[in-house]
Order: sequence, then C-alpha cells, then structure tokens
Amino acid sequence: MAFHSTSNDTIFALSSAAGRAGVALVRVSGDRAGDVIDVLSARRPEARVAVLRKLVDPQTGGLIDHGLVLWFPGPASFTGEDLAEFQVHGGRAVAAALLRVLGRVEGCRLAEPGEFSMRAFENGKIDLSQAEGLADLIDAETETQRVQALRQAGGVLFRLTERWRAKLIEAMALVEAAIDFSDEVDVAEGAVGQAEERVRELGDEIGSHLNDDHRGEILREGFQVVLAGAPNVGKSSLLNVLARRDVAIVSSEAGTTRDVIEVRLDLEGLPVVVSDTAGLREASGDVEREGMRRTLARAQDADLVIRVVDGSEGAAGVDIPSVGSSGEQIVLVNKSDLIGEAGGNDAVGDIRVSAKTGEGIAELIKIVALVARRKTGTREDTVITRSRHRSQLASCHQYLLAFLGKTSDVELRAEDLRLASDALGRISGRIDPEDVLDEVFGRFCIGK
Ligand code: GDP
Repeated sequence: MAFHSTSNDTIFALSSAAGRAGVALVRVSGDRAGDVIDVLSARRPEARVAVLRKLVDPQTGGLIDHGLVLWFPGPASFTGEDLAEFQVHGGRAVAAALLRVLGRVEGCRLAEPGEFSMRAFENGKIDLSQAEGLADLIDAETETQRVQALRQAGGVLFRLTERWRAKLIEAMALVEAAIDFSDEVDVAEGAVGQAEERVRELGDEIGSHLNDDHRGEILREGFQVVLAGAPNVGKSSLLNVLARRDVAIVSSEAGTTRDVIEVRLDLEGLPVVVSDTAGLREASGDVEREGMRRTLARAQDADLVIRVVDGSEGAAGVDIPSVGSSGEQIVLVNKSDLIGEAGGNDAVGDIRVSAKTGEGIAELIKIVALVARRKTGTREDTVITRSRHRSQLASCHQYLLAFLGKTSDVELRAEDLRLASDALGRISGRIDPEDVLDEVFGRFCIGK
C-alpha cells in the first residue's frame, strides 16, 4: 500500500480491537461523515456531545443497534476532517452490520491501516514524530514504554526540532546578511560571528541529545539480554523459569536449541527481551553452525550477555564462554542444586542459581532489572526513540560542525546550514516525507 496524497474518500473502520468486547468503536472521517450520521440516526448530535441513538439501516429500515453517536466537525477533530464516531455493542455481528451499511454509503470506503493518522499528519494536526509516538503508544507493553510514547505523541521531539529550526533560521539569516553586505567587511564579519555563536550553541545541544546512550531506542525496542553458553548448561530452562511458561523446548540432548527463542518480560516496568540461543560449542553440522552464528550476532548487539556455566561440573571443568559484545556481561553459574554433590563450583560467577529449584532466580531478575534501569534510565530529556531520528539528527550535527569548521566561502557555509535545517525538517516530516510515510503509517493497525 502506498500513501501519497489524501483522496477525497470518506473512510471508516472499526477502531477498537476486532472480536468480542463490551463496546466497539467505529470511526468515520471525511466530507461525508456528517451525512453518514444523518443516514443512520436521522438527527446529527451537537458537536462533541455523546447522544444515544437508534442506528438504522437506511435500506431496510431495520435497527442495527442502539449506540452512542459523536460528531466532531473538522478541523477540530483527530484527523482535521469531519469525523463521526459510533460506539455500539461489541459483538462481532454488530460491528459487521454497521460496517456493511457504511460500505454502501456513496463515497465511503474502508480505511487502510494508519489512514486516520495519515490524514491527521497531512492536515497538520500532528507531525511525523508524533505519529510515531502514537504508533509506539499503541504498541507499548510496559509502563516506561507508555510514558516515553506519550511524551513523543505529545510532541516533545516536534517542539524541540521546531525550536532548533527557528534558531538555525536565525543563523541562516545572519549568514545571508553577511553575503549581502560582503563589501562592508566589519558588518559581514560581525554577522558571521553571531551566526557561529548560535550554531555552536545548537551543535552543543544537539550533540548532548545524540550522546544519550541510545536510551530511547533501548526502551522502545526492549532491553536485549542474551543467554550464552555451552549446550546443556540450562539456558532453555532458565528462559522458561524467567518467562514462567514453556517457551523454549527443554531437552537434555545436547544442541537442540538451534534457533533463537525470545521472551518479552516486563521487569519493573522496563521492557526486557531475553533470548536463548544455540549452544556455543564446536559445531557438528550446518544447522548448528548457523545457530552459533546467530548466537554470536545476537550477543554482539545485546545490551547484556549472561554467560551461563554448569555449576555441577566442578571448578576444573568449567569453561566460561567468551563472547564479543558491546553490552555488559555477567557470568551465571546454573544448577546450584547440584553443586554440593559434584564437589562445588562456587569460585566462578557473579551469581549462582538453579533453574530447577528456582534458587537465585529472584536475585537474577533483580540484577537484570538493575542493569536495564541503568542503561535506559529515566532521563526526562530523552527524545530520540528511533534510528530514523538519530540518523537525521546526526546528519544535522555533521552539517553544523562542517559550518563551524570552515572559515572562508560564506556561500558554502550557508549551504551547510540549509542542509542541517533540512535534516531537522525530515524528523517532523516537513521535508520530503514521501519516502518515510509508508514506513511510519503502514505499521499502524486499521482504524488508527
Ligand atoms: P541448554 O542446552 O543450555 O538450553 O540446557 P537445557 O535448559 O536444555 O538443560 C539441559 C539439562 O539440564 C536438562 O536436562 C535440564 O533439566 C537440566 N537442568 C537445567 N537447569 C538445571 C538446574 O538448575 N539444576 C538441575 N539439576 N538440572 C538442570
């Protein structure tokens, strides 16, 4: 599906989740939204006042349901267009009947995924970063994700980029003045000096946001934990204990976990993704080799690698797997319940647990949550939540530095500022949004 320009169609969709529920919400947006209310319920309610109405199929005169009707004349609506909402009983057949009737209204059609939000964007109700915030809010699984998404949807990044752009435009005007007054050296140099001062401040501010340890992205995507270790040390068992449900196949046969299995956990409001990977050992076959490749790749990008060893093997036999990773690493000794029998292996490891008895698991969760909290923090000023924001902001920063690095050729320096400003404009979607619109809105569900 490709969005390019808004069609004149009036669109409708079930905006609440599909399936059986107490209430279902159907939204209609576009020029014909008001007519749709007239057609179904005979009397259009006052703007933004919920009224209970009989909803009638105009073709048969039959009652569809009793429901609440809301009328939001544009532009004071979510999409900026005329918008109607129907809250009906949440049975599948009720919603289906209502959608069927709407589909028969001339000029109305079912909305594409994200099309309501897309229209809100096109009508200037929200910018692209706010639309992303809305998508994140819908996807938010934990408390910290909700808070971050809400800030983004509320326009934190949008307002910041607008403020930066305004400052950049001031600097650009000063540079233009320097070009215009190039005959008057004092005036020109003064103007360039003032522009440099503003650009320097801006560069520092943007630089400090870029230097945020990727907190926003980690929070949005989940803190990545990888369990690494030789086959049979108990990685799958640990994952199962953590997830408190059977997600990985626990087997005493070596090398059965060849793929990456992950569970998403909510640790004290932080999203944590734990993955169990293929055992690290000499590969005996292609499949296993591929599994190991994935393990190492996962560990490389992980925020935390838990290197698991088998505590029952005795200190001498312990082989702590070494993995390259940009994240933190801890060594975990599993099978603590067997340590007594086999002579013990308490010399190594940061933590000792038993996936079998549950001993030490609470402490393990505490450690993971602690590291996750340290890495994601609750820094109020985190604004970068996606690589899309980071790459544009980094590009803006580069152009600001390029401007500051040059001393002559004021025309070229003006171009640096223009490119820096374009990069900021891409974050909010002011500049060439086309290439990113599908990416942003196509991920929404229908009805949003
Ligand atoms: P993986 O290959 O590292 O994923 O290891 P598994 O989770 O498949 O476990 C290998 C074997 O060790 C299985 O028979 C498990 O039941 C057993 N096991 C795992 N954790 C413990 C533990 O803490 N104590 C004991 N006694 N056995 C364990």
